[in-house]
Amino acid sequence: MELSQTADVVVIGGGVMGASTAYHLAKKGCDDVLLLERERFFGTQATGKCAGGIRHQFGTEINVQLSKLSLPMLDRFEEELGQPIDLNLCGYMFLLTEPEDVEVFRQNVEMHHRLGVQTEWLDPSEIADLVPLIDLHGVLAGTFNRDDGLADPNSVVQGYISGAGRFGVSLMTDVEVTDVLVVDGRVKGVVTDQGTVSTPVVVNAAGPWAGVVGEMAGLEIPVVPLRRQIVVTGPIPEVPDDFPFVIDFAQSLYFHPEGEGLLTGMSNPNETPGFNQSVDKEWELVHLEAALERLPILERAGLANRWAGLYEVSPDAHPILGRVSQLEGFYCINGFSGHGFMHAPICGLLLAEEILDREAHTLDISSLYLDRFQKGEEIVEYNVV
Ligand SMILES: Cc1cc2nc3c(=O)[nH]c(=O)nc-3n(C[C@H](O)[C@H](O)[C@H](O)COP(=O)(O)OP(=O)(O)OC[C@H]3O[C@@H](n4cnc5c(N)ncnc54)[C@H](O)[C@@H]3O)c2cc1C
Repeated sequence: MELSQTADVVVIGGGVMGASTAYHLAKKGCDDVLLLERERFFGTQATGKCAGGIRHQFGTEINVQLSKLSLPMLDRFEEELGQPIDLNLCGYMFLLTEPEDVEVFRQNVEMHHRLGVQTEWLDPSEIADLVPLIDLHGVLAGTFNRDDGLADPNSVVQGYISGAGRFGVSLMTDVEVTDVLVVDGRVKGVVTDQGTVSTPVVVNAAGPWAGVVGEMAGLEIPVVPLRRQIVVTGPIPEVPDDFPFVIDFAQSLYFHPEGEGLLTGMSNPNETPGFNQSVDKEWELVHLEAALERLPILERAGLANRWAGLYEVSPDAHPILGRVSQLEGFYCINGFSGHGFMHAPICGLLLAEEILDREAHTLDISSLYLDRFQKGEEIVEYNVV
């Protein structure tokens, strides 16, 4: 397929954000969308490294609202797009070991209830009933939401890519955007390693590379790449089918069912920003020791797989979504800070509304605009995993 010379909209990046945006633009009637991905396949970067967790449990109203709109889109995904996504509503459980976390999570649960989200408060004996395999030393309380769970990121990307293709989106891999053309404060096009495309609208869906793409357009988009690692075990027959997604919040240590075993991750608080995606073996040891303490049965499991990927972190750990006041025609869908997969369905739709209807209307996203950082209106959240 040859690169076209013009497009109504160019989407840079074919991860879950670019795929969802391209699909929703085309579904809403935009018939000249071009999606450009520099890798050989779609969805191999942050999205392909993702743990697949989907949850309502957040500490700010805007994130809970995004989940309330996005998770039902995953429920309907197979019906709408004909693509199964291994949806498993196994629930999400936060384990709390610090008194100050208990206080904040109590307020979060109240906020969830006010917004119609049914998060439950658990004492340690209730936690033990639900996850008897977990060692609960130091656990003071927990929260649980039965409507949270897991879905397969690759299937979601493939579903949106195929759906976008059926609506006529031009989908190209192996094409790298190297510059964004700007004239008199307006987007005019993109330069790629295969030629130039004239366009009045560019969507930055470059995930951990969002800042690099921003620079091409003369913008400062404060998204930094931060390495995060995952280990997948071999079969553990003792893990029951209804084992939930469990997070030891203070340690940022999590487990969830994966195939016949478990997937586990833990955030390294000393990780420094950068594009390195090699596995840090020293950190893996720290991670596995902590994991064994919480889930002693892991001792019997083999190691099946491991990888590292990049979170795309914004200064307030909230997305940067929507128009950019300094540059007409430039739109962001960036900075999801480790929980973007679950919000990709609704954020792709909201961005399509923002572009085609002049403003997102399914949800007010003005608090997520890039210019909040210049205005000093960053969002405050406590429970970042
Ligand atoms: C280890 C790990 C675990 C995670 N777990 C969860 C989870 O449980 N739940 C959850 O909701 N989220 C999770 N996330 C976060 C989630 O994966 C991301 O928020 C989401 O995938 C971001 O999607 P994206 O499309 O913006 O980025 P990406 O998938 O990285 O896509 C961006 C694409 O842009 C392309 N690109 C960049 N620059 C250019 C260019 N110049 N030209 C052309 N193409 C370009 C890249 O090649 C890439 O494919 C996790 C992330 C990691 C790393």
